[in-house]
Amino acid sequence: MCGVFGIYAADRDVARLTYFGLFALQHRGQESAGISVTDGRRITTVRELGLVAQVFDEGTLETLQGFAALGHTRYSTTGSSAWQNAQPVVRHREGRSIALGHNGNLTNTTELREELEAEGIQFETTSDTEIIAALICDHAGSLIEGVQLAMSKVTGAFAAIVMDETQMIGFRDPDGIRPLVLGDLDGCPVLASESCALDIVGATLVRDVMPGEIVICTTDGVESIPTEAGTQHTPALCVFELIYLARPDSKLDGIHLHGARERMGERLAEESPVEADVVIPVPESGGPAAQGYARKSGIPYVDGLVKNRYVGRTFIQPDQALRELGIKLKFNPMPDVLSGRRVVVVDDSIVRGTTTRKIVEMLRDAGATEVHLRISSPPIISPCFYGIDMSTKDQMIASGKSIEEIRLQLGADSLAYLSLEGLEAATGGGDDRFCRACLTGSYPTTVPIAADKDRFEATRLPVV
Ligand code: AMP
Repeated sequence: MCGVFGIYAADRDVARLTYFGLFALQHRGQESAGISVTDGRRITTVRELGLVAQVFDEGTLETLQGFAALGHTRYSTTGSSAWQNAQPVVRHREGRSIALGHNGNLTNTTELREELEAEGIQFETTSDTEIIAALICDHAGSLIEGVQLAMSKVTGAFAAIVMDETQMIGFRDPDGIRPLVLGDLDGCPVLASESCALDIVGATLVRDVMPGEIVICTTDGVESIPTEAGTQHTPALCVFELIYLARPDSKLDGIHLHGARERMGERLAEESPVEADVVIPVPESGGPAAQGYARKSGIPYVDGLVKNRYVGRTFIQPDQALRELGIKLKFNPMPDVLSGRRVVVVDDSIVRGTTTRKIVEMLRDAGATEVHLRISSPPIISPCFYGIDMSTKDQMIASGKSIEEIRLQLGADSLAYLSLEGLEAATGGGDDRFCRACLTGSYPTTVPIAADKDRFEATRLPVV
């Protein structure tokens, strides 16, 4: 997943603005955070494992002085969450340095790495991002030529920001799988994974960076270089950004996500009505869709589960037993509103089913007489190779199973997912606008046979 943020503004405290921007992108990655700044002569970088607020304080921000900054929050999809893989990735060659932040996941990492290693290029990390950095840095031309070279070689998903001592450039893969938006802060260019990060620094949203586009940030604004590949490909923004990942207050590809999620809930109510007393969301991911479901169905919306905001993502727990414990720490049901009631519980998606099964059990223990699960996306049946950590097919509860089989496994009285047509109506597009590979198994690019995120670990990083 990951979040990226960049700003080019001569007379502003660019590191502090980037710090605020990263705060707004914290949901995109909680493993590490980092900021690089340039003052024209050298790039200074601070990156560390942990949340944005844990990595930076007043002292560290003061050391980051310059006119351009780029920041990153990481959730690993290739390479472990070790410190070495924290971003921005910094690379040096013949008196020149670059810093790079990347959101997405490459699909030809293995081949490219072998090819570059055969040419004598060395890698210090296990992430795919370093491959992009090597392609940009380890060649003789300018920064922009490096970016063009890298874009012609790598495949898959990348929304990235790179800078050397004097320039900052943003670029996006030709399918536009991961988002990248362009903002304006008093005439200065700002780049961010999501528009909510522009809001927090007081920048206005100008537009999305186009698929395959390169934007060069300068003191006069931005210079845009569209690539041929970008114009040839059908745009394929990840639909899971709309369903789950991006913040509801963000606007991507012209779509307000809160509104889109409410429409998903409304469609779901039309497609799969049920007699019940209350509609509750699984907080916070199911909130907007539950509101839409309640409005359309006329069933009252109540909060039946309280989420502890300070418990991290259950998904990052390393084994199943810990994951199950994590869920108990995360949600607490409220018997006062659940007891004796028929409950519709709305969530945005089910991946493994671990959380959902536990929630159904909790609601029953809290006195719910019936539990009807309504999911505001179609079943997730295929892995993501583009940067969403959603495990392998055999771990996905919906892969190869009927809805009835899934319902039985989750222990609900009824289960319904939003249809693909319903999702299309709520978002305003199908395969001609979005990558929906996790829902259909049809990928916009060629994909590797396996996407084990730790595939370079054994030989690269010492076990500590
Ligand atoms: P589970 O029942 O274990 O599959 O978990 C479903 C919950 O996980 C839903 O609330 C989703 O919003 C959330 N979710 C979906 N995708 C992801 C992901 N890639 N990482 C973490 N949580 C996710």
